[in-house]
Amino acid sequence: MSWNPNWEIMKVSGRDVCYDRKSGLYLCPLCVPQCLKVNLLIPKKEASYFLTKEDLLIHIQLHETGELKKVFAPPVQKEETSDLF
Ligand SMILES: [Zn+2]
Repeated sequence: MSWNPNWEIMKVSGRDVCYDRKSGLYLCPLCVPQCLKVNLLIPKKEASYFLTKEDLLIHIQLHETGELKKVFAPPVQKEETSDLF
């Protein structure tokens, strides 16, 4: 199966978020800020996808309150992939 997301910028509660029309999935712009700038193929393991705006907003609120760091600590990324550019 191949999925080539085509991220669009959507306004959700006055905030720019990423939305893929094909799959109907929202992507957290705080986890993957690149999606707001360019269409990138983002590996699933690095991103948080949401089926509804509500779920996305709850997730974003967790970022803002700092709760997310307690819930899951993503591995420290030591090197940026250079072919993103
Ligand atoms: Zn996030």
